[in-house]
Amino acid sequence: MRRGTVAIVGRPNVGKSSIFNRLAGEKLAITDDASGITRDRLYSNCEWLDQEFSLIDTGGIELKDVPFMEEIKAQAQLAIDEADVIVLVTDGRVGITNGDQDVVNILHRSKKPVIVAANKIDDVKFMDNIYEFYNLGVEDVYPVSALHGVGIGDLLDKIIELLPEKKIKHYDDTVEFAIIGQPNVGKSSLTNAILGTERVIVSDVAGTTRDAIDSKFTRDGKNYVVIDTAGIRKQGKIYENAEKYSVLRAIKAVERSSIVLVVLDGTKDIEEQDKRIAGYAAEYNKGVIIVVNKWDAVEKDEKSMKEYMEKIRSHFVFLSYAPIVFVSALKNQRIHTLFEQIVKVHENYTRRVSTSVLNDILLDASIMNQAPIFNGDRIKLYYGSQVEVCPPTFVIFVNDPSHMHFSYQRYLENRLREAFELSGTPLKLILRKKDE
Ligand code: GDP
Ligand code: GDP
Repeated sequence: MRRGTVAIVGRPNVGKSSIFNRLAGEKLAITDDASGITRDRLYSNCEWLDQEFSLIDTGGIELKDVPFMEEIKAQAQLAIDEADVIVLVTDGRVGITNGDQDVVNILHRSKKPVIVAANKIDDVKFMDNIYEFYNLGVEDVYPVSALHGVGIGDLLDKIIELLPEKKIKHYDDTVEFAIIGQPNVGKSSLTNAILGTERVIVSDVAGTTRDAIDSKFTRDGKNYVVIDTAGIRKQGKIYENAEKYSVLRAIKAVERSSIVLVVLDGTKDIEEQDKRIAGYAAEYNKGVIIVVNKWDAVEKDEKSMKEYMEKIRSHFVFLSYAPIVFVSALKNQRIHTLFEQIVKVHENYTRRVSTSVLNDILLDASIMNQAPIFNGDRIKLYYGSQVEVCPPTFVIFVNDPSHMHFSYQRYLENRLREAFELSGTPLKLILRKKDE
């Protein structure tokens, strides 16, 4: 269950970034190295007690060339605009400062719940310091030490309690896809190319969000909604000049779609920011298609396409399942190929496979390639079944999940991908211990 967005605000140096890392948990460290996803510290997808929420560190938006107070105001405003719950971080040893008071004054203009995390309470002897923070006019003050990881669980419990149960609005029988990518890669042009020949039934600012424009259309008897993140600019908001803010908008669109088109500018090299943006599509377990745009403007020979594909594969290791399509939005070239992939990836994303075939594959896989001994024993697969779609999710009952080596899990995933048509979709394997 997805539960909306939490924003962290506060003066510089109170420990926002440290708390962000604690709340985001170990997941950050793991995904960083293993999958090659580049992270900025602005945003994370968090999980606590089976509840998921998005976390924003407003300290990460880094406005350039604005006075300190302006920056703080912008951060508080960002939190008000984007979050369902706001965590105001203060320095628990210093007590209330004018800066804290200024931030809280802005926050109180909204009806959003505010929790104070009094940080740097590394020792119980500082515990009494927290009471003074009730003077900020908030109901909840939590002592934490980001340094030692103390108090984080209680803070997370409260966050979950305050978060609304969010239903993301979905259209029935409709393939929803988002178009994301850096500024100027051609997202708007691609949206126009896609909509150009189609009849747009409605094109409006969706009721659920102010961050993207939803356009509904039909093509070959199928209904689609394209969520265009480039179409809207929040006029006059100071944080608009923050580059990272466009990432935030992209993520909101990713959350709401089932398929994500990650657009790259084929005339340019792949940049860190491309990887970062693509990383979110992977993190949210969406169907993904990598679209190389502006292919008309590339000086090509017979090797160019292959070379670009290899470059993509080496940079986007975490999206090895995503098909790659080369298009020109401007010249309207190969848009039909893109649609073939959208249809296919959507089928795969919602695919159900038969339990008996699944178990044949698992049996074959374990016979052909014996699992390595790991943590004292070999993993033994008993049986599996598919429990979910979007993306396809398989539960496999085993002797003991702790014996599963990462490489063997990947081997099993590959076998499933060979056996079933699953291009473009992530798949999840959940291991369960079978009770004897
Ligand atoms: P931000 O600017 O608000 O994002 O703050 P940072 O997370 O970068 O932390 C600022 C400084 O405070 C760093 O030197 C941290 O190591 C330190 N710090 C953060 N949390 C704690 C804590 O719980 N206890 C102590 N003693 N120091 C902390
Ligand atoms: P966005 O910021 O990602 O929405 O990018 P736009 O759609 O506004 O496009 C940025 C620039 O790239 C514009 O000048 C477009 O005309 C140009 N552009 C977009 N698609 C193509 C393409 O397929 N080929 C070429 N040559 N230029 C393109």
